[in-house]
Amino acid sequence: LHPAQAQKTYQIGTDVTYPPFEFANEQNQYVGIDIDILKAIAKDQHFRVNIKPLGFNAAVQSLEAGQIDGVIAGMTITPERKQKFHFGDPYFKTGVIMAVSQKSKIKGFSQLRHQRVALKTGTAAATYANSIKAKYGFKTVTFDDSNNMYQDVVTGNSVACFEDQPVMQYAIKHKTPLKIVTAPANKGQYGFAVQKGRNADLIAKFNVGLKHIKANGTYQKIVAKYLGAQA
Ligand code: GLN
Repeated sequence: LHPAQAQKTYQIGTDVTYPPFEFANEQNQYVGIDIDILKAIAKDQHFRVNIKPLGFNAAVQSLEAGQIDGVIAGMTITPERKQKFHFGDPYFKTGVIMAVSQKSKIKGFSQLRHQRVALKTGTAAATYANSIKAKYGFKTVTFDDSNNMYQDVVTGNSVACFEDQPVMQYAIKHKTPLKIVTAPANKGQYGFAVQKGRNADLIAKFNVGLKHIKANGTYQKIVAKYLGAQA
């Protein structure tokens, strides 16, 4: 690299705590599948990233307002979001599930009538739950982060929550006392997002870098580090 061409630093918004995709580890370093993938791609494509754990909804709002360059936050590629954002190639499969307390007798949406359901603001899971809310007659309460949403169900304030399957599976494996009771709905994939019409170069670099880290095994190593051999 020519010395005059210092590596560009992009401001990247992410969720606060969304394991295994982004979270602070025991050494208080910010890690996870999203963070490690983006860092590996940045290294491969010679750019730098400044990771800002803003919270999911705040990160998406900041991106829309042009205050940051990109979002990587287990962000589902949806038709509505494609109107506003330009997504890189999909990098992880997901779907929306409902989880209830481990001791709960609730097995499906029809048992939610007049009950309270916990949702996370601005998420694809909340959009899905809101789309079936009238049909099944439940009430909702919203949270800005996943853990507070889970705790509302654990304490019994809400009877269920809606979350992404890989994230809920990971939380349950790591001792969150909930269980998944529905099959994944609105299946889709996670994508790295920029504002439409801005940072097209960053998306191009992301896509080339993603191909490289898949071809050289780095992607698979990162996923296995957090999810084990199952992935
Ligand atoms: N995948 C969900 C969405 O895109 C939730 C993301 C998150 O909570 N970080 O809406």
